[in-house]
Amino acid sequence: MLKNETQSKKHFLIVGAGLSGLSLATVLLEQGQEVTILDKSRGLGGRMATRKTLAGGAIDHGAQYFSAKSAIFKDFLANMKKEGVVSKWTLAQRKYPRFIGTSGMKSIAQKMAEKMPVHTAQKVVRIEGKTVLTQAEQRFTFDELILTIPVPQALDLLVASQIPLREEELQALTQIEYDPCLAVLAVLNKPTSIPTGGIMLTDSPVAWLADNFQKGISTEPTLTLHASAAFSNAHLEATDLEEVGKQLLESVSAWVEPSNVLSFQVHRWRYSLARQRYPKPFLSLANGFIHLAGDAFGSGNGNVEGAFLSGYDLGNHLCHLSSRHHSGV
Ligand SMILES: Cc1cc2nc3c(=O)[nH]c(=O)nc-3n(C[C@H](O)[C@H](O)[C@H](O)COP(=O)(O)OP(=O)(O)OC[C@H]3O[C@@H](n4cnc5c(N)ncnc54)[C@H](O)[C@@H]3O)c2cc1C
Repeated sequence: MLKNETQSKKHFLIVGAGLSGLSLATVLLEQGQEVTILDKSRGLGGRMATRKTLAGGAIDHGAQYFSAKSAIFKDFLANMKKEGVVSKWTLAQRKYPRFIGTSGMKSIAQKMAEKMPVHTAQKVVRIEGKTVLTQAEQRFTFDELILTIPVPQALDLLVASQIPLREEELQALTQIEYDPCLAVLAVLNKPTSIPTGGIMLTDSPVAWLADNFQKGISTEPTLTLHASAAFSNAHLEATDLEEVGKQLLESVSAWVEPSNVLSFQVHRWRYSLARQRYPKPFLSLANGFIHLAGDAFGSGNGNVEGAFLSGYDLGNHLCHLSSRHHSGV
């Protein structure tokens, strides 16, 4: 959409600084709208997550790589590649290269948010009229509120805030489902022999292994292990996560010698990939000022590109509405 000089300015409050929230904010800011972004974490990127180790290494522990099918997302990546933020990664098991954040996945979100008004460590706990209240007891007002957080969490927030939902809205939102994922983040004493640094496993409690040193994002040898959806579902509520981590690491000893593991942590992702999605790129509630977007929306896959496109489409829709409203359409 071209910048419309006569467009009215609104204040958009975006909850979630993951890829969908940031692509939405990019569109709104380009159109001269006022934007505030809140995220409950101390960092940015949501499930595009990279953890730093004490020795300065890095571990991508959420999204591992992504593909680009749409022209819009390819354009975005071309710019990010020029900036040196995105690189290609060719896996032995894949014919065509995939994309990664050159310094880890989180760095893509950090680059996007460089000039954005993001408030971190602000968990939204309640919506009251056209204000949200955060756990840190701060209030933020808005004209339009956009929730880009995993849908079950958005539903909890809407219900706790007593926002009336129509039967069809409730149905659409409750049918959305995500797979959980238990991730093991390990520091190693030497790189692994995993070909090209990443491997998908089948018939195993482990679905994915990545050597972040070979991947090129870490200066020290580190490992990312993702348990399969079946294993993660079965062990999600385990109280002894360390024991679960040990079991997972033992099951991949053919790739990673247990004696090469210096230390490890287990991260519990309640929401990883959106398995059951809403077919349209976003959902605007009938109340007219609350919208939902994210990787669970849209006809593509529930992944990085899907999250980007959901935010992008909602951004253009909101700018279009804003200019129609201003011109009295
Ligand atoms: C383990 C794992 C592996 C994955 N692998 C891949 C992969 O290889 N390829 C791929 O394409 N995709 C992968 N994905 C999926 C991909 O990461 C997501 O589809 C995408 O990043 C989702 O972006 P989003 O903006 O929709 O949501 P998120 O990234 O989840 O962003 C939502 C944000 O909202 C914040 N938030 C939540 N609640 C609140 C609140 N109440 N107040 C304020 N802030 C809040 C969160 O902190 C978060 O930053 C993987 C995900 C996981 C977890």
